[in-house]
Amino acid sequence: MKVTLASQAGYCYGVERALRMTDEAVKNQKVPIFTLGPIIHNPQVVESFKALGVNPVMNLDKTEKGTIVVRTHGVDPLIIEQADQKGLSIVDATCPFVANAQQRAAELVEGGYTLIIIGEKEHPEVIGILAHAQGQAVVVEKVEDIPKSLRGKSIGVVIQTTQPLENFQQIVAGLAALATELKVFNTICGATSRRQHSAKKLAEKVNVMIVVGGKNSANTSRLAQICEATGTRTYHIETSKELKAPWFKKVDTVGLTAGASTPEWLLKEVVEAIKEFN
Ligand code: SF4
Repeated sequence: MKVTLASQAGYCYGVERALRMTDEAVKNQKVPIFTLGPIIHNPQVVESFKALGVNPVMNLDKTEKGTIVVRTHGVDPLIIEQADQKGLSIVDATCPFVANAQQRAAELVEGGYTLIIIGEKEHPEVIGILAHAQGQAVVVEKVEDIPKSLRGKSIGVVIQTTQPLENFQQIVAGLAALATELKVFNTICGATSRRQHSAKKLAEKVNVMIVVGGKNSANTSRLAQICEATGTRTYHIETSKELKAPWFKKVDTVGLTAGASTPEWLLKEVVEAIKEFN
């Protein structure tokens, strides 16, 4: 049985950087250490940080001392201000691609544009971008959401970093039909689409696909859907313990991929466990 790993799988640049910064905080910063929300959507990684004394909190209401780590999605600048006022140390692990979208959004509002943020209304990254734009933006998830009241306006656009390019293109085309002026920043980061593309290509060639990553990770679940859509039998697991021998019966080729929040050690464990079924 041949096991092949997708050419793009596992940690992206922003996640790797955030985890490195959290590791450094454990060594060098004031304790206790908190992350605003889980540092990444991977229960095994969150648990390993808990063992080092790093705990997720949803807000700063009960946090009076120590260090707060801002995760890759970024936050409302008011939260940084609140942390500062409380005398907390701040480790800002906002992904630079997200920070770019936040900055562009703020610039567009300052420049007098009606700001459109393309993305999911409830996603923490979109909430953070909206806050950087002082709440003066319309969040558009899909082309049908574009308000007709935008006709004749000067419109500025940024997009949630993990959105698909096709959605961006459709919505920008819809806005172009209404606007008198349109200023667009393509703030998509590409890590997500590269992982999706390579997972699809691999799924088309193998008998079984294994997708490794948090069940609470939207990007890992999306990878599993994409693989399944190719018609190849696909299993989404968090750890090697979930693998089952019957999945690999009469199977010659297995493909493996992982979301941007899946650590390499989990992937290696899965590869070793699959080989044991041989
Ligand atoms: S997916 Fe892209 S924007 Fe998001 S954390 Fe990774 S590198 Fe940054």
